[in-house]
Amino acid sequence: MNFTALATEGVRGLTPYEPGKPIEELERELGITDSVKLASNENPLGPSPAALEAARRAAAHVARYPDGHGFALKQALSARLGVAPECITLGNGSNDVLDLVARAFLGPGRSAVFSEHAFAVYPIATQAVGARARVAPALPADHHSQPHGHDLEALYAAVAEDTRVVFIANPNNPTGTWVDRAGLRAFLERLSPEVLCVVDEAYAEYVEEPDYPDAARWLTDFPNLIVTRTFSKIHGLAGLRVGYGLSHPEVAGLLNRVRQPFNVNGPAQAAALAALGDEAHVRRSRALNRRGLEQLQAAVRGLGLRWIPSVGNFLTVDLGRPAGPVYEALLRRGVIVRPVANYGFPNHLRVTVGTEAQNARFLEALTEVVAQ
Ligand SMILES: *Cc1c(COP(=O)(O)O)cnc(C)c1O
Repeated sequence: MNFTALATEGVRGLTPYEPGKPIEELERELGITDSVKLASNENPLGPSPAALEAARRAAAHVARYPDGHGFALKQALSARLGVAPECITLGNGSNDVLDLVARAFLGPGRSAVFSEHAFAVYPIATQAVGARARVAPALPADHHSQPHGHDLEALYAAVAEDTRVVFIANPNNPTGTWVDRAGLRAFLERLSPEVLCVVDEAYAEYVEEPDYPDAARWLTDFPNLIVTRTFSKIHGLAGLRVGYGLSHPEVAGLLNRVRQPFNVNGPAQAAALAALGDEAHVRRSRALNRRGLEQLQAAVRGLGLRWIPSVGNFLTVDLGRPAGPVYEALLRRGVIVRPVANYGFPNHLRVTVGTEAQNARFLEALTEVVAQ
């Protein structure tokens, strides 16, 4: 039996998303217990204690299906963001929302536009439903502020007759580059209202640039806009899987048609709700990240290496040589980072900003490895 031949054409051509190596597996392999994982842009502080407590309490009720409408969480998001509950789509991570967009609006004979070096889920979601990916070239490597960043001109030029969705990661992973308010607004003004524009703001809470757009405020100006956010990154709840999309209510209604009825579990909803209420934890996480980025950049500069300027909670470092052996050597020292060759960066590694001590562990190991 050749099952591959039976799969749809889109699925046959897919390369699976590579998650970071699990810490338990590495420790078993090395026989150590003190490794650090800086590979998946998780919050090194973990979630708010209030979120953990809420998840624990909700765990008592897991015999029951969760609230399929996420009523309480949507109410809280609505109050926080000034967006009506009908505009909110909850997802099993924001990844789920990206998938819902693809399933509702893409398919054979249609295309999605995104940038070179953009988040890996966009090509997967697009191809999985048999749609075509139109990949726009990124800004050049020597660009003054956003090397390898999204080129909004190129993205606009890539939109074709069959395009139904444009994905913009702001900031993008793995580059950490971002698009500013004026640029994004001008892009949306130009884009046909019949093409949906997904602005993926998974790292929005980390960004401190004054010109960074809060796209959620533009939902009424641009009915074709979909903003996605997540509790996986600054809120430290990656393992529970909860994210959301903000859109025109009619778009939300269409996403709701293809959504699994219970896509966000009860402990996840409870934890997300509590996390929203702990703004001090978010501020602490952002401050730790700012200091960590400075720590990493200073040391990487000291090693004579370059990096892509990042406003996220990660830094993609140019090693000036194939990154594979460096990645392996770091693993042997108990440090897990992320190779990004699949993003078109064979000489780079992406490191998540950890605690000061975790960053120091990474830097110590990197210093040893690059000296060899
Ligand atoms: C991590 C990430 C996401 C979201 O992940 P979820 O855990 O599914 O919410 C979305 N977009 C980008 C660019 C990311 O890096």
